Amino acid sequence: MRETILTEGAETMLIKTLLNKVEHFKSFVYKAVSFAMVYGSEALVVDLVARSNSRPECPECGKLCVTYDTRGARLFEYMPLWQYKVYFRYSPRRVRCSVHGVKVEALPFAYGKEQMTTSYKVYLARWARRLSWKEVADIFETSWESVYRAVKHVVEYGLANRKLEDITEIGLDEIFVFKGYKCLTLVYQLNQGCRRLLWCGSHRRVKTLLRFFREFGKERSHGLKFICSDMWAPYLKVVAKKAPNALNILDRFHIMKKFNEAIDEVRRDEVRMFKEQHQENVLLKGRWLLLKRPENLSEKQTARLRDLMKLNLSSVKAHLMREDFQRFWNYRYPSWAGRFLDNWVTRTMQSNLEPMKKVAKTITNHKPLILNWFKARGRLSSGAVEGLNLKAKLTIRKAYGFRTLDGLTTALYHTLGKLPEPKSIHRFC
Ligand SMILES: [Zn+2]
Repeated sequence: MRETILTEGAETMLIKTLLNKVEHFKSFVYKAVSFAMVYGSEALVVDLVARSNSRPECPECGKLCVTYDTRGARLFEYMPLWQYKVYFRYSPRRVRCSVHGVKVEALPFAYGKEQMTTSYKVYLARWARRLSWKEVADIFETSWESVYRAVKHVVEYGLANRKLEDITEIGLDEIFVFKGYKCLTLVYQLNQGCRRLLWCGSHRRVKTLLRFFREFGKERSHGLKFICSDMWAPYLKVVAKKAPNALNILDRFHIMKKFNEAIDEVRRDEVRMFKEQHQENVLLKGRWLLLKRPENLSEKQTARLRDLMKLNLSSVKAHLMREDFQRFWNYRYPSWAGRFLDNWVTRTMQSNLEPMKKVAKTITNHKPLILNWFKARGRLSSGAVEGLNLKAKLTIRKAYGFRTLDGLTTALYHTLGKLPEPKSIHRFC
């Protein structure tokens, strides 16, 4: 290692002053600062030594112990300074703990055998919440795996240290990952002021949800007051059994999702029919026109939708049925809403659109749970689950490079979990 030790002058002092401002340790002091070649590129190396008379700490119990011996110098990567990589250089001591025997001392700036300092991990992880992990790796000239390790560490710390008190409202959702062949069950907390991802488990099975309730604990489950979910019967059963004090609400987002699936099915059938009869496909690229709410369409799309409306198409009829149903959510009283629902079902059953009739049947079967929505009015925001679902989807889309479910789960907790971070004095946001 070729080294240029900065003269014990202004530069060194300045760097040490900066470091002491952002990262001050009670039992360690900064010494020489030098330029050195580390892994093939020039880096700033800051030597750290234990304060004289300080005793090393046992990593298991935190007790101050006698020094057994001192190991060779190790480098710990710190946050980069301008374009330079920064490393702490320190020779860890080994302690002889009366309980745990001979161990490498605990360090305030890095865990166990890790090469990255905790501060650097938190720093990378914060960027990884904003950019894809690959972009973060490129910008900081590190590997994708290092970014992953950093995020994983921060997430593990967060999960172990988060508070799970006063959770009274949750939402259940599922999301497809890895090109639709795998499914994750997501549990969100929906309390006003604390909306976050609480739990995430692979598959959508009864076992998955039972696992959540087991990990969540009986006492907390009994404290739940509202649970939003979709109408998947096995889940409804588990919820009724495990959270007996909660009102189960079929939320707006999941119900409207059923409508969209039906509209899509009608449209696909119609496109197939056009093809068979060698007709012009007027529905070409019409998917979003029919699925989006009219107020979310652009001017050009609105004009196209207007043109479509003039044609006597099943897809358009299905679209209008959904728009008609939207009025349901504006009711104040469950009894009026219930009457509207019955009328809508009757109208729909008279149509010849099988997918829409299927929705009508589902709605009839779940009427009481759907009407629970009005009982919880004002407590649950209509967009809460939808908003979190959208963010989860974005995370998954941004997550190219995740080869494992573990990586994906880590990313979801990281962006949606509102997890507490390991202590790091340096803040940039
Ligand atoms: Zn110990």
